[in-house]
Amino acid sequence: MTFLDFVGNARVVTALRRMLEGGRLPHALLFAGQKGVGKFTLATLFACAANCQRQAGEICGHCGSCRALAPLEDLAELKRAALQARGSASPETVPLLLRPHPSVTVLVPDGAFIRVSQMRAVVRQAYTLPAGVRRNVFLIDEAERLRFDYADLLLKVLEEPPAHTSLILVTAAPFKLRPTLRSRCIPFYFAPLTTEEIAHYLARHRPEGEKQDQELAAAAAAGSLGTALSLDLRLYRQVRADALELLRAAANQQPSPERFFAATSTLAGKTSRPGADSEDRREIMEFSLEIVYSLLIDSLYLKIGTPEQGLRNPDLRSELYQLSRHITQEWLEEAVAGLDRIEGWARRNVSRQLALDAWALALARSLPQIG
Ligand SMILES: [Zn+2]
Repeated sequence: MTFLDFVGNARVVTALRRMLEGGRLPHALLFAGQKGVGKFTLATLFACAANCQRQAGEICGHCGSCRALAPLEDLAELKRAALQARGSASPETVPLLLRPHPSVTVLVPDGAFIRVSQMRAVVRQAYTLPAGVRRNVFLIDEAERLRFDYADLLLKVLEEPPAHTSLILVTAAPFKLRPTLRSRCIPFYFAPLTTEEIAHYLARHRPEGEKQDQELAAAAAAGSLGTALSLDLRLYRQVRADALELLRAAANQQPSPERFFAATSTLAGKTSRPGADSEDRREIMEFSLEIVYSLLIDSLYLKIGTPEQGLRNPDLRSELYQLSRHITQEWLEEAVAGLDRIEGWARRNVSRQLALDAWALALARSLPQIG
């Protein structure tokens, strides 16, 4: 992959390429933006270009360094292999470092956090330039999961950076980083991709797909190419139909408890996949809440007459328009606020389904008297 294959955020790409061409590489960068917009991908392109042996600032794809760094495109596989290689050794003695070539070291969470042992390894390695390496690059993915209480360990590297070292913190939650770390990085904020950019990418890279499906995936992805690529469209359609049914039941003043509980149970992920573990259920639940949220926001747009270019569910336009006629703006706003509260409860370990049931029943009770 080269810079030309990268989709979206052209201004960030241009700024980074200028730095590479001019040979002025920053020591600390922050790549921030929602999940799936290519932050980590661009960080790896930066690392490859900083080390290409044939074309400084470019990615030739053929030199030893470019070829050795190609596995960075599949981070999950690199992590799997590293964990397998570690076997039963302790994470403290064998810190999880993904290092397909001595020029680039990637840190990813080992369990819930990026561990102290991983940070210590970065500090150790940052001061030595391995033989044959031009730039020693450290990529820290999901940097918001650096152990907050130990994150200052990295400060030393950021405050007195070795001339040949660059560190890139990649995060979807920059404000969860320690301010002392954040303030020492040159920040790059990644914007969500447009629906057109995503649809165009899918048409080019997945030409076998149906156009209709690609457009649906692009609209549903809400700016995240990663989401569009990994979206299970069958599950998406099924959950979305259930979510719409639930909203209709509430809005049509037919609150049959059985229907509510059947719908919330499917949405909570209990029945979506037999044998699903709690992590799967949590993911399906978050996925479902996001879909309910997108339906509510679209209904709100249709209600208040905002231009339709932003609709996340353009194919359901007439159904959502019907729905929006039966409810008030206040009801919609309360429904959206209620969804945010479900996330808050879930963080306090209240069952998401219980919270969703309470939300749906409260909405049904506060039925608007119009339509
Ligand atoms: Zn190269």
